[in-house]
Amino acid sequence: MAESFDVIVIGAGPGGYVCAIRAAQLGLKVACVEKRETLGGTCLNIGCIPSKALLHSSEAFEEAGHHFAEQGIVVGQIGLDLAKMQARKADVVKANVSGVEFLFKKNKITWLKGEGKITAPGKVEVAGTTYDTKNIVIATGSESTPLKGVEVDEKRIVTSTGALELDAVPKSLVVIGGGVIGLELGSVWRRLGAEVTVIEFLDGILPGNDGEVRKQFERILTKQGVKFRLKSKVTSAVADANGVTLKVEPAAGGDAEEIKADIVLLAIGRRPYVAGLGLDTVGVALDERGRVKTDAHFATNVPGIYAIGDCIAGAMLAHKAEDEGYALAEMLVGQKPHVNYDAIPGVVYTWPEVASVGATEETLKAAGVEYKVGKFPFTANGRARAMGSTDGFVKVLADKKTDKVLGAHIIGPDAGTLIAEMAIAIEFGASAEDIGRVSHAHPSLNEAVKEAALAAWTKPIHI
Ligand code: FAD
Repeated sequence: MAESFDVIVIGAGPGGYVCAIRAAQLGLKVACVEKRETLGGTCLNIGCIPSKALLHSSEAFEEAGHHFAEQGIVVGQIGLDLAKMQARKADVVKANVSGVEFLFKKNKITWLKGEGKITAPGKVEVAGTTYDTKNIVIATGSESTPLKGVEVDEKRIVTSTGALELDAVPKSLVVIGGGVIGLELGSVWRRLGAEVTVIEFLDGILPGNDGEVRKQFERILTKQGVKFRLKSKVTSAVADANGVTLKVEPAAGGDAEEIKADIVLLAIGRRPYVAGLGLDTVGVALDERGRVKTDAHFATNVPGIYAIGDCIAGAMLAHKAEDEGYALAEMLVGQKPHVNYDAIPGVVYTWPEVASVGATEETLKAAGVEYKVGKFPFTANGRARAMGSTDGFVKVLADKKTDKVLGAHIIGPDAGTLIAEMAIAIEFGASAEDIGRVSHAHPSLNEAVKEAALAAWTKPIHI
C-alpha cells in the first residue's frame, strides 16, 4: 500500500515549499509533489533568483562602463562575456534550488517527483501511485499570460523564461508590457547594449503603483535610454530568420504601424496555473479569472483541500506565497496566524529600485480617507550623494487625524531594502512620528525614510 501523509502539497515554489517545511516543523508528516527537475518553483528556477542574478551582473557592467571613471577609477576596456554571466546565473539558481532540497531532507519531507493529480478529496496521484492524505494544498503557481497574435517560440519571441536565457545581446528588444517583469528584464538587456522599446497599453508604466512614482520612474528609465510607446497595443508579432515584425496600434484604435525587433519579450502579466490537477473532477471552484477560490483560511469549497500563492487571488509575489504557506501550515495544526495583506511590499529591482507598501494616494482618495504626505528627495541625503545615486524620493502617507502610517513609496537606491522598515511600521500600527523619532544611523539611506516620516508628521530637518 502507498504511504499516507498528514499533508500533501502540490507544487514546490515559495508557497509550497515554505508550507511543507513549516508543516514538518510543526510535527506533521508531509509530502510535496513537484514535476520540475528541481525544487523552488518559478521563483528560484525561472523568476526572482535568475532575474536578480542578471540584474546584479548587468548593473555591475554598466557601473564599470559608465560610472567608474567619474569616481576616479581607471580600468581598461570593459568587455562582456555573456556565456560566463549566464553560467554564473545558473550557479546562483543551482545553489538556491539545492538549498531547498537540503531543507526537505533536513525536515524529512518526501519529494514525490512527477505531476500531481487530485483524484478525490484525500487522494493524490503521482506517477501512477495514489497517496492518501488528510490535507491537500494546491500551490501550483502561475504561467505567462499569452497574447493573441503573438506566438511565443522562446527564441525570438520570448516570455521571461526565454529572456533570461538569451545567448547574445539583441540589437533591439521590444518589450510588450510595462510591468515589473518587463521593466526588470528590459533593464538587463539595455545595460548590456540592446536598444529597448517598451510598448504599454495603458497611459503609464507600473499600473497600480503610486502615480508620482510611476511618472518619475518613467522619466528615469527614459533618461537611461529606454523608449516608451504608451497607449499602444500590439496586435501581432511574427518571427522569421531576420527578426520579428510587430503590428502596433493606438490603444483607442487607429492605424497600425509596423516595427521591427531582434527579440520580442511578451510580459503582459501572469495567470494562475492549475492545468492537469483534476480540479473539475473533485469540484474545486475557480473564480472568474481562473484562480482557485479560497476563504480567509485558504480553504477551497471542498473540505480538506486548500490553496495558496500565485494560483489564488492577490499579488503574484514570492513572499506573499511564502506568508500564505507559513500561515496555512500553522492553521492545519490549530494555530491562528494571520496574513496582513496591507503590509506586503512590492519591489522593482531596477536601478534605482522602486518599492511600495500599503495604500497609495490613489487608493486613499478612492476610499475617502484623509491623509498627509511627507516626502524627502535622495538629492538631500548624504549617503545617496556619496554613492552618486540621488535619483528618487521617499514618500510616506499617514492618516491626517491619527498620524498612523498608511503607505510608503520609495524610488531610489536600495528602495527594496528600505521598504522593510515601512512594512514593519504598518504591521505594528506605527505613526509617522514614531518613525521620525527612531534613531537612524548616519550616514544611511534610511535617513531619507526618517526625514519623509518627519515631513508627514511635522517638518524634515534637511530640506
Ligand atoms: P510557483 O513558484 O510558480 O511554483 C509552482 C510550482 O508548482 C512549479 O514549480 C510547478 O512546476 C509546480 N506544479 C504545477 N502544477 C503541478 C502539478 N500538477 N504537479 C506537480 N507540480 C506542479 N516575485 C517576487 O516576490 N520578487 C521578485 O523579484 C520576482 N521576480 C520574478 C521574476 C520573474 C521573471 C517571474 C516570472 C516571476 C517573478 N516573481 C517575483 C513572482 C514569483 O516568482 C511568484 O510570485 C512565485 O514564484 C509564486 O510562488 P508559488 O509557490 O505560488 O508558485
